[in-house]
Amino acid sequence: MSGHTEMTLVNEDGVRIDGRTADQHRPVHIEAGVLSNADGSAYLEIGKNKVLAAVYGPRECHPRHLQDPTKAIIQCKYNMQSFSVSDRKRPGPDRRSIEISKIIAEALERVVLTELYPRASIDVYIEILQANAGTRCAGLTAAAVALADAGIPMRDLVPSIAVGKADGHVLLDLNKEEDNYGEADVPVGIMPSTDEIVLLQMDGDMTREEFDTAIDMAFEACHELCDIQKAALKKRYDTGAVREGSE
Ligand code: UDP
Repeated sequence: MSGHTEMTLVNEDGVRIDGRTADQHRPVHIEAGVLSNADGSAYLEIGKNKVLAAVYGPRECHPRHLQDPTKAIIQCKYNMQSFSVSDRKRPGPDRRSIEISKIIAEALERVVLTELYPRASIDVYIEILQANAGTRCAGLTAAAVALADAGIPMRDLVPSIAVGKADGHVLLDLNKEEDNYGEADVPVGIMPSTDEIVLLQMDGDMTREEFDTAIDMAFEACHELCDIQKAALKKRYDTGAVREGSE
C-alpha cells in the first residue's frame, strides 16, 4: 500500500491490468467436500488465489483451559504455504497469519450456532496454496463452505471480498499489484441474509464518499459470492444423492 507508483494500474478507459472493469471480481470457483478425512472441506479459487479449507468438529476442546461451558469455541489456523508466493515465504506462523486467523475466527463465530456445543471446539484450517491478494477473504469464504459441508448448524454463510482504491479509482477485488501499489485495501465479510458485517478492515485511505461506493460494491459482490457458495454445496449434495441411488 505505497499510495503512489510509476505503474499504471487503471488505464484511461478504466480498464485494469488484468482486463477487468472497476466493479468486476476475478473468476470464482468453489468446490465443497474435497477432503475425505476432514468433517467438512472446500477448495476455492478467485483469480490466481488457490485456497483449501478443512473443518473438524464440534469435538472436545484442546487445550482444555480454552473450553467455554456456554458454547463451542472456533479455533482457526490460517497458513500461507512457502510456495504460495513468488518470494518463498518463511514457513510457520507469523504476526500476519495470527491476526488473520483471529479475524476469520471472529467472523465465523457470528454465524455458527456455537451455543449448541458447550465445551467443544470447532477447528478450521485454511491453507493458502497460491496467493495473489485477497487471501483472507478467500479463506473466510472457503471456510464458511467447509463449515456448512461439515453439517455444522449456521445462521448464514459468509461471503467475503476486498474492495479498495488504486490510481484514484475505487476497485472491487484487488489483485496483488493493486494491493501493493494502490491507495487502500478494505476486506469485507458479511452475513448476506441480514447484511450484517462480520469482517471489516482497512489499510490505506479514501474519502467517505469513496468508502461508501466501495462498501456498496463489496455487498453486491458478496451476494453474488454467496450464490456461488450455495451452488457448490448444492452440487456436492446432488452428486451424493445420484451416487447413492446408482449404487
Ligand atoms: N504476500 C506475500 N508474502 C507474504 C504476505 C503476503 O507475497 O508474506 C502477498 C500475497 O499475494 C497476499 C498479498 O501480498 O495475498 C496481500 O497480503 P495482505 O497481507 O494484504 O493479505 P490478503 O490480501 O492476502 O488478505
